[in-house]
Amino acid sequence: MRRPVAARDYPSGTFDAAPAPLEGVVLAALTDEGLDVDTSAPTRAKHGRDWWPVSLLEVGAGRVPVWPGVVVRAHSESQVEATLRVASRFAVPVTAQGGRSSVVGGAQPRPGGIALDLTGLNAIGPIDVVSGLVEVGAGVFGPDLDEALATHSLTLGHLPQSFEISTVGGWLACRGAGQYSNRYGTAADLVRGLRVTLANGTSLALGARAPRAAVGPDLTQVFLGSEGTLGVITSATLVARARPSYDERLAYGVASFASGLDVCRRILRRGASPAVLRLYDEIEAERLFGVSQGVLLVLDEGEPALVGATMSLVAHEAASLHPLDPALVAHWLEHRNDVSALADLWARGVVVDTIEVAAPWAALATLSGQVLDALRRREGTVVASVHQSHAYLDGACLYFTFAGLSEEPLAYYRAAWDAAMEIARVHGAISHHHGVGHNRARFARAALGDSFGVLEGLKTFLDPQGIMNPGVLALGGVPW
Ligand SMILES: Cc1cc2nc3c(=O)[nH]c(=O)nc-3n(C[C@H](O)[C@H](O)[C@H](O)COP(=O)(O)OP(=O)(O)OC[C@H]3O[C@@H](n4cnc5c(N)ncnc54)[C@H](O)[C@@H]3O)c2cc1C
Repeated sequence: MRRPVAARDYPSGTFDAAPAPLEGVVLAALTDEGLDVDTSAPTRAKHGRDWWPVSLLEVGAGRVPVWPGVVVRAHSESQVEATLRVASRFAVPVTAQGGRSSVVGGAQPRPGGIALDLTGLNAIGPIDVVSGLVEVGAGVFGPDLDEALATHSLTLGHLPQSFEISTVGGWLACRGAGQYSNRYGTAADLVRGLRVTLANGTSLALGARAPRAAVGPDLTQVFLGSEGTLGVITSATLVARARPSYDERLAYGVASFASGLDVCRRILRRGASPAVLRLYDEIEAERLFGVSQGVLLVLDEGEPALVGATMSLVAHEAASLHPLDPALVAHWLEHRNDVSALADLWARGVVVDTIEVAAPWAALATLSGQVLDALRRREGTVVASVHQSHAYLDGACLYFTFAGLSEEPLAYYRAAWDAAMEIARVHGAISHHHGVGHNRARFARAALGDSFGVLEGLKTFLDPQGIMNPGVLALGGVPW
């Protein structure tokens, strides 16, 4: 099994100042259950961070963002059950962890709590090749699952930028979206069934075991996006499709971001959903492609007849744009997952982050302009830019990138997010696929409005002691 570690390794150190690990009756109870328990400082340090820039800032300064009391590595659902039984008995907080690639602090444990490492839940199969259904452990990383499906000429088509460092459980717990989601749907769209362990240590199967059901509400949805606050996803049944061997690519220059958005809208309105339909503003186009105008990239894959039809609709709607070399798409494919610069920038004191939101087409140009204005007006901002990354019939995801320099990096960072979130909430969704975690917890109540009470009710019912990832989704307080 692939274990991508480089990006997640913690700087080496003696950790002399490490706070005391979990001890006494709780540790004894975990050990008595026969669990794989690790209280060593290096392991706890490694599990005390994720990819949230605030976490990266601490790591860059040589500090451990949060010290869990213990790391429990689960290798089976029954070990997840045992861990949660002990945590419930002693009211100890538990944070489910997959690849710890959360960029919003969702995988950061609570100080002194249990970091529950789920990457040992790495079974793949059985695969029902006829139906295209795969049962997969929550801790399986993207490349491992893709390799297993490839042997049957299948793929999920779910390709987040964090493909190599994230797990199935994390994709589902955050309602993630891959770069080809226009064609294949988001992670939540792939789910046909889930197994979930609740705070009291009992497990249940959810889902229809069929492509659709009308037998009450779809309860898998309660756990998709619950970010470890309502239960631990231990495995999922996902639907795969034929692995494509053919694609076509196009690239265009656009006069303005707003006019490019309208071309995207018209393409979707015509019924074409090319796997990739990404629109970059001129700042990102210059940075990524060395092109001095906004860029629209299009890629579709699959059966040649269907791809051909899709791309001819795209070409028709894009006829007024400036044709560019389709090799730009190959350049994007080659560099799309390279984020090595991010941690370096933080370590050098540059505050840099991305903010993904979603809104209807009618609101997107206004939303884009207002967020960019707000970010650029903030003292310290060096650059703010945007691209459109996932498109739907009725709207799209806008993905902002900002960077700034400040004597007070955290204050600058919070203020930038405050401004962007307030605007996003007015126009649409405050997150499209990264989730809430710690970073967006302070905005969750307002974003959900009256329905926040329903979420709180579910939390009380499923996790009465509030041990599951407290603070995330603003359940059990607002941690940051
Ligand atoms: C460079 C980079 C690029 C990224 N690109 C994308 C992208 O293109 N698309 C996208 O959607 N996201 C992206 N992300 C964000 C992140 O990778 C996703 O949120 C991913 O789904 C998290 O998976 P993970 O296994 O790392 O989960 P973790 O980070 O370990 O956990 C994330 C959250 O899910 C909970 N959780 C994890 N596993 C389980 C489980 N089995 N049961 C219950 N709760 C669980 C955790 O408690 C936490 O709240 C990116 C992140 C990075 C660092």
